[in-house]
Amino acid sequence: MICPECGSEYENDVPDCEGCEVPLVEEVDDGVEEVDFAPLVESTDVAYFGLVTARLEEAGIPWFVQGETSLGVLPRDGGEMGDPGEEVVTVHVAENRFREARQLVRDLDPVEADDWGG
Ligand SMILES: [Zn+2]
Repeated sequence: MICPECGSEYENDVPDCEGCEVPLVEEVDDGVEEVDFAPLVESTDVAYFGLVTARLEEAGIPWFVQGETSLGVLPRDGGEMGDPGEEVVTVHVAENRFREARQLVRDLDPVEADDWGG
């Protein structure tokens, strides 16, 4: 157990830091609070995102979604243009769990399912 304030290490039976008088927390690895997130999937299909995020939740993989409204002028991925006002949502997952997340959703992906080598 360590003190989140000063970083002092204590034995397990000590509940609080002597100096800071704050509850001790489980020791964490360096950098665990600064997880990088990587874009996993991008779509305008709300139902699809429901499936993806449900699986990520089940697996305990940190995720967030970032939405942006398409202007209808910029081709995405060099392909079709989105309709004006269409919400394009990107699911980001923790980079250290990315491979796991990719496998979880690969059978949900209508485009890359057959394409994904592994
Ligand atoms: Zn302390």
